[in-house]
Formats: sequence, C-alpha cells, structure tokens
Amino acid sequence: MTSAPNAASAPPVLELTRLTRRYGSLVAVDDVSLRLPAGARHAVIGPNGAGKTTLLNLIAGTDRPDHGTIALEGADITRAATAKRSRLGMARSFQQPAVMGDLTVLENIVLAGWPHHPKRRGAWRSPSRYRQHTESAGRHLEAVGLADVAHRPASTLSHGRRRMLDLAAALAGDPRLLLLDEPAAGLTDADIGRLLGILGGLPESVAVILVEHHVDVVAHLATTTTVLVAGRVLVTGPTQEVLAHPEVRDAYHHTGTAPSAAPTETRG
Ligand code: ATP
Repeated sequence: MTSAPNAASAPPVLELTRLTRRYGSLVAVDDVSLRLPAGARHAVIGPNGAGKTTLLNLIAGTDRPDHGTIALEGADITRAATAKRSRLGMARSFQQPAVMGDLTVLENIVLAGWPHHPKRRGAWRSPSRYRQHTESAGRHLEAVGLADVAHRPASTLSHGRRRMLDLAAALAGDPRLLLLDEPAAGLTDADIGRLLGILGGLPESVAVILVEHHVDVVAHLATTTTVLVAGRVLVTGPTQEVLAHPEVRDAYHHTGTAPSAAPTETRG
C-alpha cells in the first residue's frame, strides 16, 4: 500500500473554487467550492436534479464551467481535455459500464491501462513488456473478483460484473483521483457487498469522490460528504455529522436512498 503524501505540505488532490455551470437560466452548479485532501473518501449527495452529475462532469472535463477553477494536485485543469486529466491521474467509473463487449474481460483492462503504462512505447513489439502489462491487468481483475472470467467476452457478463470490470478499467491506470458515478446503482445486495469490499480496500494513494443515492453505501465508504441542493452546497463535513443534519436525516429516514424533494434552507 502506498502511503498518502504529508497532508500539511501536499496540495489538495482536488480543489474546486467557486465552480458554476449554467444551462440558460438554470444554474445547475452554483458557486461550489471543495477541497479534497489526498486519500479522501468524499461523497456528494442530494435530491434529483441537485447538480451532482453536472459537478462530476465538470471535474471529469466532459463539461466546462462558466465560472470558477478546478485544480488537480495543484495544477489548474479547468480547461484541460479529458485525456490530459486522465494522464494527470484522474479516472472515472460510469453508471452505465463503459466496457467493450466484443473484447475479453482481460483485453478490456489491458487496453484501459495501456496509455498509463510506463513502458508502453513499442510494447506491442516487445513480448516481455506485453507480458508485464498483461500480468498487471490480471492483478486488477483479481482485485475486483473477475480473474475466473478473464478470457470470456465482456458481453457475457452480468450487469454487476460489468460494473466491476468498469471499475477495474478505471483503476488500471493507477489513478490519484477516482470519480464514481452511482457505483451501487442497479446492483444486487451481494454485488453491493462486493463493491464495498473492493472500494474499502483501495490504497490511500487513491482519493475517491462518489455520487451515490444509497445512503448505506455513503455511510460505509465516505469519511466526508457534501450535500448539494439546487446546485448549491447545503453542508459539507464528516459523513456521520452530515447524515445527522436535521434536513438530511428527515429526507433519508424513510427510504434509505437520496431524497427526491429538496430541503428548504441552504447554508454554505
Ligand atoms: P439525479 O440525481 O437525478 O441524477 P443530479 O443531482 O445528478 O440529478 P444533474 O443531472 O446534474 O442533477 O442536473 C442538474 C440540473 O441541470 C437539472 O435541472 C437538469 O435538468 C439540468 N441539466 C443537466 N444537464 C443539462 C443539459 N445538458 N442541458 C440543460 N439542462 C441540464
């Protein structure tokens, strides 16, 4: 396990400063500032339409803010393309698994990790480098419990196992920041248990930001949580304190999932 850099000297792994995204007159993300230290386990929760996915898209670079800045380990990436963010250590796992069904499970991971491999140049012509890379991909599959299906076409996997494959693909580049978009959505209880085990075992060198509706998953994984309401930060703090916040507690009490109606007050 790689230890996290000294928190006092290292810049935050992710710093959002006054991030704003408008769609016409709608402010989907409204003046959001956040600081995630290295190794953070940070959840973003809130009612439908609160701006969670938009915020994740801004961080990932698939959407651009109208105002504000995004820094990854001190480097300004506000206008950086997704490929550059990926090279700088950001990875994303999608709600709809982004796997290539015609390729085998192992080939999916080999391809996902390839751009990040330190000896990737000419590796297709170097059997030893290719073997080294394939072995590394195999270790990522083992970590998510897919070693037994390594040589099967990815299209034959169940939804739950595709999500694990998508997660392994995101981890194949050894990211410093992992963005998880509703990782538990559509999973069986058994798969959620497996997911919690995998994410709980990630090294401290990987910071995680997760958007999630399952409050149990948030409570289990996230040490800090932000609640977004109508694009604004209602509260950010230690997860247990945030979940005990009266407006959040009332909204989650009956369903165990994210509220569908917005709490009324806001504070930054
Ligand atoms: P959910 O929990 O339902 O996924 P969310 O918190 O992720 O919701 P977003 O998907 O970020 O919310 O949407 C925030 C607001 O921005 C919503 O009102 C949505 O309709 C609007 N929105 C999102 N993307 C666009 C877009 N491309 N064009 C116009 N409006 C958009």
